[in-house]
Amino acid sequence: MFSIPSVSKILVVVGIVLIVLYGFKAIGRIDRERKAAAKAGSKRKPDQPATHPKERPTVEDLTECDNCHAFVPAAKTCGQCGARL
Ligand SMILES: [Zn+2]
Repeated sequence: MFSIPSVSKILVVVGIVLIVLYGFKAIGRIDRERKAAAKAGSKRKPDQPATHPKERPTVEDLTECDNCHAFVPAAKTCGQCGARL
């Protein structure tokens, strides 16, 4: 039933075993690097989100300055020419 396998078959089996072995090694290395990167990324204060809400840009209405016709945030004075809006 079982005969002695030829050298080429043994080489193929050894090659497949080596491929699987190095494949698992590579997967383990990638997983370790990913976990290390995740650990390094989570060194921030846990109660602070990635982007602080105050740092987020807010939507602001712009009004046209009567003096220089620049569109500036609706403030008391124009940021471009200093004229009162
Ligand atoms: Zn102006």
